[in-house]
Amino acid sequence: MVDASLELVDGVEIIELGARDGLQGLSNTVDTLVRVNLIELLEIAGLSSIEVGAFALISGMSAATPPLPVLEALGHAPADRIRSVLVPHLNALDQAYAAGCRDITVTTAASRTFCRATLGCDIEENLYRITQLIEHARPLGIAVRVRVSTVIDCPFEGVIAPQAVAAIVARLQPLGCRQICLDDTTGSGAPGTVGTLLRSCLMEAPMHTLACHFHDTFGLANANVMEALEQGIRAFDSSISGLGGNPYFPGAAGNLATEELAYLLTGLGMDCGVDLDGLLLAGEYIDCMLDRRTESRVGRALRARNLPYSVAR
Ligand code: MG
Repeated sequence: MVDASLELVDGVEIIELGARDGLQGLSNTVDTLVRVNLIELLEIAGLSSIEVGAFALISGMSAATPPLPVLEALGHAPADRIRSVLVPHLNALDQAYAAGCRDITVTTAASRTFCRATLGCDIEENLYRITQLIEHARPLGIAVRVRVSTVIDCPFEGVIAPQAVAAIVARLQPLGCRQICLDDTTGSGAPGTVGTLLRSCLMEAPMHTLACHFHDTFGLANANVMEALEQGIRAFDSSISGLGGNPYFPGAAGNLATEELAYLLTGLGMDCGVDLDGLLLAGEYIDCMLDRRTESRVGRALRARNLPYSVAR
């Protein structure tokens, strides 16, 4: 049951990762045209914040999602849309700016071992790199979102102390990033651990600057969303049709499916600006192009009824 303190009139931001994180987990790189079509379908469905590509191969993920051809094909982003690219270094930031991109995402990790394994440096060195990127981005009018991975546990180190995550949030908060996203990379979080983590982090940063990223590995992604909503978080990563995964954690499910998140928020009467029928279309498109079965139970249920969501309900 939703706590009475939950403001049902609040809007929630969905940050769509399917076209970047989702596709990077595949064995082959997907054609630019398919990626552009997917992004356009997602935007038609009402998603206004989308990660469209990455300047580097992500460690452990085999497929590239080069952003420049996609940005060029999409053209200038309207002022109310965020098309973000994953930027690993200053050179990529300059390329993103030249291509008209005004939103970037950078990553770090709460686990020292995971940081070294995926980013090739220790946490302190990476925070210095992020500081440089933010200082370089600010005068260019580029907003920076930071994703902190392994906030609940790490495939190498095990449980991560909430205080360690909060300490990183405390370092990032004064830098002026647009948003700090707490990423439960392995999907091991449950409402109890997520609640404890958020209470620690909310002592270091206001709720409107934080976002959450959950995986459905143990079937608790939306339960964790509920816990985060109760704590005041109003921004969540998700991925169309549940695309994505974690190469460091065999058996990890994909990212929380956007369909699941939108269905939950709609059921709570919370506005996320997304049309579920449009999402179903985008999900069917990419699943058809990839010849895969959807990871979204909402997608499966509504496709099986063969009715648009608006009619089925
Ligand atoms: Mg993920």
